[in-house]
Amino acid sequence: MQKILLIEDEEKIARFVELELTHEGYEVNKAMDGRTGLEMAESGEYELVLLDIMLPELNGLEVLRRLRKTSSLPVIMLTARDAVMDKVTGLDMGADDYITKPFSIEELLARIRLALRKKQSSALPLLTLGPLSMDIARHQVTVGGETVDLTGREFSLLQILMENPGIVLSRDTLMERVWGYDYVGETNIVDVYIRYLRSKIDDRFNLKLIHTVRGVGYTLKQETP
Ligand code: CA
Repeated sequence: MQKILLIEDEEKIARFVELELTHEGYEVNKAMDGRTGLEMAESGEYELVLLDIMLPELNGLEVLRRLRKTSSLPVIMLTARDAVMDKVTGLDMGADDYITKPFSIEELLARIRLALRKKQSSALPLLTLGPLSMDIARHQVTVGGETVDLTGREFSLLQILMENPGIVLSRDTLMERVWGYDYVGETNIVDVYIRYLRSKIDDRFNLKLIHTVRGVGYTLKQETP
């Protein structure tokens, strides 16, 4: 369950948001002042922070400023309608997004999902093998900086090979991972897609990265001359 920290001193709003988010399947903890909120945010327990600006002890902008010294935890600010300066300052200080009070719960949920998705995708690695590079978050493959257009299946197949460089993966393994256990169709589908990848990568760029291991399967490795 994803844990959200809500730093909000207006009890009515805090309770409403907590109730709705809990209903949506999030786990919510509340802090009623900035100092407590900052301490909780720094605990590393949370996936996201909802941060009110006007708070006792430490105001929201100060909480954000201090939090950003050590943490890139997604923060969505809850701002008053006319507080344009707060929004600008907050975004400058590293808030991921803001939502203006009063807000609908649907809008808040959408912002939360977006912020969590962004966090997740920025944590995805860049895979590389020699000149070949794969950005999983952007769904992009390049060879020596040149973009290679791949279909979804081709991308998935290449991703598995890139995640296991030098390891021989059987046709069955590749088939299960890319097409699923319940795939019914051509039994040579893996070979067909390997051929597509070879023509788009090895042949086009005059490389030899995709290797056939006779009777076993395929592996991706850079041949050392
Ligand atoms: Ca407040």
